[in-house]
Amino acid sequence: MSDCIFCKIVSGEIGASKVYEDKYTLAFLDINPVNKGHVLVIPKKHFDTVLDMPEDEGVALAKASVKVGKAVRKATNCEGINLLHNIGKAAGQLVFHAHVHLIPRFSHDSMRLGWDRKQYANSAEQEEFRKKVSEAVGK
Ligand code: 5GP
Ligand code: ZN
Repeated sequence: MSDCIFCKIVSGEIGASKVYEDKYTLAFLDINPVNKGHVLVIPKKHFDTVLDMPEDEGVALAKASVKVGKAVRKATNCEGINLLHNIGKAAGQLVFHAHVHLIPRFSHDSMRLGWDRKQYANSAEQEEFRKKVSEAVGK
């Protein structure tokens, strides 16, 4: 994708602080880290989101993310890590080239996920959602 910023990083057209690469993936420092040592792991091939990736390429991305996640933990001495994908605009995705965030976390840092939890109205509604998702898995 010629206008994709992460494709340009893969091709070398734009620089990045690379920390790891293999045949399928590349990892580099996020330019605006939530905490220092915040890394992005991306597939070298362009996919808009991780949900557009074939399973084997997804596996390669997950393997690289675990490997680099361990390195981020070791290098930053963080107390935790948020490993997350923002998938779609509503979920906060700004760059539409699939990527995994590895964000080192500390007990008193400034990052807030702000989850506002809901409840199912009753067990029938819960079952309705279980059924819908479960049936969609096979399709
Ligand atoms: P998203 O909101 O799409 O999940 O996150 C995209 C991330 O890419 C952001 O955290 C942003 O700081 C990072 N980013 C955007 N442009 C560049 C860039 O040119 N270089 C690097 N290293 N990171 C970038
Ligand atoms: Zn791309």
